[in-house]
Amino acid sequence: MSEPYKVTYATLTADNEDLHTAYEAGVDVAKSWLGAEISAPGDPDPGDPVDVVSPADPSVLVARVRAASPGAVEAAVEAARTAGRDWAATPWQDRLPVLRAVADLISERANELAALMTIEVGKNRLEALGDVEEAAVFFRYYCDQVEKNGGFEAKMEQLSDTETTRSVLRPHGVWGVISPFNFPMALAAGPAAAALVAGNSVVLKPSVQGTHVAWKLYETMLEAGLPEGLMQILPGGDDVGKALVANPGIDGLTFTGSYTGGRAVMDAFRGDYPRPVITEMGGKNPTIVTASADLDAAAKGITRSIAGASGQKCSACSRVYVDAAVHDELVQTLGKAVSEVVVGDPLERATFCGPVIDAEAVERFRSAVEHAREAGGTVVAGGEVLQGAEGHPGYFVQPTLISGLPTDDELFSTELFVPLAVVAPVDSLDEALERANDTVFGLTAGLFAGEQDEIDRFLAQIEAGVVYVNRPAGATTGAWPGVQPFGGWKGSGSSGKAGGGLHYVQLFMREQSQTVVT
Ligand code: GLU
Repeated sequence: MSEPYKVTYATLTADNEDLHTAYEAGVDVAKSWLGAEISAPGDPDPGDPVDVVSPADPSVLVARVRAASPGAVEAAVEAARTAGRDWAATPWQDRLPVLRAVADLISERANELAALMTIEVGKNRLEALGDVEEAAVFFRYYCDQVEKNGGFEAKMEQLSDTETTRSVLRPHGVWGVISPFNFPMALAAGPAAAALVAGNSVVLKPSVQGTHVAWKLYETMLEAGLPEGLMQILPGGDDVGKALVANPGIDGLTFTGSYTGGRAVMDAFRGDYPRPVITEMGGKNPTIVTASADLDAAAKGITRSIAGASGQKCSACSRVYVDAAVHDELVQTLGKAVSEVVVGDPLERATFCGPVIDAEAVERFRSAVEHAREAGGTVVAGGEVLQGAEGHPGYFVQPTLISGLPTDDELFSTELFVPLAVVAPVDSLDEALERANDTVFGLTAGLFAGEQDEIDRFLAQIEAGVVYVNRPAGATTGAWPGVQPFGGWKGSGSSGKAGGGLHYVQLFMREQSQTVVT
């Protein structure tokens, strides 16, 4: 068994000098990588270069990305298929050491990979280190799952002395992995690791905005000794994603991104027969606060959940339903906590909330706040776009809390992916649960309550894949592989099985019943 799934990044507290020094050394390495031109390996005809810039300072060029040509998409799928044959035939006992070596090399490079991530997508030190560490842990956890389950091979009942049957989970072949910008390591590495551990090969299409980090993941995997061809990477935007989805050589597909993107992928991924598709989509995650709750803990957890990664987690809290008896008090405490969040350059030690990813996200934020004001809401905290202000050259906005809107307002149902939440009073836990569940989404949910009966009712009735009770560390965020399996219900996820959980690797395999008569 490999190391337990330790969370070392969480020890990066303000006064842990050693970890800060190591991260800062990583920044120097990451800076030496900036501006690289990235295209699909061996692509004779990549697209025109597209500049990926730092959202914290758009004058910093992170990479020049040249989209994979249609020929490169074909070639990648073909190469993955060829390499995958040997890999599938390799006993699982021999596959695992290779993948554990990948995990170890990711861990070894954690600081420089995290620093690059901070520059490329704007995550603060702690969030970026967590993202990289999570990537490594995904590899370790899935390896351990295969080992614990004996490679998912089991002897079945026997009806006669001469007939023996085994159930064997076997790989599908080539998996396409379409990954998002917000966890550019972990959400590329997670599905890729599960696919590879299960004996498949992988063609990764990362988000353009996280291309450089994804490229470093790809390089790290090869340098750790992953057999040639098994892991392919296709830089580029939607067109490349669409070409991958349309390629009949893909045997299974994972997509992490928006609800509309996920639905489109599910519709488009058709062929001569149904192939597995795993989508992890958005959320409009509620936190419920009852009259018996510790309001300081609630304010702390909800604030972290609103502002962590600048609200760009699928798991971020964006709706708060609070018992009317404590509504005003919570709004005051929470408003204060939200307005005290340190926004700024994510490379700086004190920063909690970096920039949002691009100008479009700033616009979404601006128009949501404008809409809230027009619809009669009160901006309790934040509300301002900081982009262009002194010390904020990039896409910075203030973490924001809005009260006083009717609960049927669109801000209670539309996912924005910016650090903004709405809060509303409710008369009872039943009403809170009804409102919390009244959405197409079902990813994460939080409760702050002091009564066991309230906790029990919440756990029994809330419609979400990942739920937390009384968690000041994040309210609705911060799932960890092997600890909190992460996956959505309803419109938040297609599979009903979660990454980092007991049943995820099996999604990348199909069962074969093998009967041998002797
Ligand atoms: N796993 C992350 C969390 O629990 C969220 C991942 C996502 O945004 O997709 O906060």
